[in-house]
Amino acid sequence: MFFPESSTRLRRFALPIAAVMLSTIVTARVQAATLRVAPSSPQPGDILTLTVYPSPGETISGLSMSAFDTPEVKFYGKSDGTARGFVGLPFDRHGGTFSLKALVNVTRDGRVAQTTLSTRLIARERVFPTQHISMKSSTASKMSEKAAFAAEKARVQSTMRNSYPGALWQGNWIVPAQGASTSAYGRRRYVNGHWWGQHNGADVKAQTGTPVRAANSGRVVLSEYLPTLRGNCIVVDHGCNVFSIYMHLSKILVNAGQSVAKGQVIGRVGATGFVTGSHLHWEVRIGWEPVDPNHVVQYGLSF
Ligand SMILES: [Zn+2]
Repeated sequence: MFFPESSTRLRRFALPIAAVMLSTIVTARVQAATLRVAPSSPQPGDILTLTVYPSPGETISGLSMSAFDTPEVKFYGKSDGTARGFVGLPFDRHGGTFSLKALVNVTRDGRVAQTTLSTRLIARERVFPTQHISMKSSTASKMSEKAAFAAEKARVQSTMRNSYPGALWQGNWIVPAQGASTSAYGRRRYVNGHWWGQHNGADVKAQTGTPVRAANSGRVVLSEYLPTLRGNCIVVDHGCNVFSIYMHLSKILVNAGQSVAKGQVIGRVGATGFVTGSHLHWEVRIGWEPVDPNHVVQYGLSF
């Protein structure tokens, strides 16, 4: 299966390389394409931007890559002939030097050549603070409902498989609700003394009813009540495998399938799901990998 020869700039590269193993494959002899990663010295929670540049006269006809906890990085074609993908650098990694490799098929004069591209990045160490949360034992007992948590996660993941193959976001990103930042991304959390995990998103303390706005433009892929953890929850697909998630809402004001504009009120702060009080928990994910929401607010994301 080749990269479609359509005029759309939203061409997609997320094709397994096995699918392009054709008899026309020849030994890579042309000057190799290049793979670049930015930023070159990220920290855990950052979004890595990966770009494949073909050599002059070549087109990219297939791409396969895994990186960190992402088994299949999704790449998207740009109008300049390059391919771009995003990857989250997980919060449970130490700093150090990492080698990234992509298997690339390039086409030149109708013939396909397969080559492995590599690049290196030096990640900085990032230490996340520990947070101890106290809960009524009747509420905390929910933590043992493993099957219910897993089912809810599967439901959310099922809506995030086919991101729009292009950037729906524009310009800067906004924090979705006004209020104090009470728990930042990555905090190492214990509930009543039991390990609960690292914080997947960021919390904004705000009264029930406070407007929740889309952090950027996109398309709603989930809008429903999820009783175990998330409560009233909205997932927005921003394209190119970039998602934002809004949880514990008192009200949901959008439907799945609907397009939303940056800043549009999509719901209201609440205390539904697994919570101790009224707040907004919001996340930014690349595929399923949670990244620091502050990263896009501070640096943006370019496609
Ligand atoms: Zn939270």
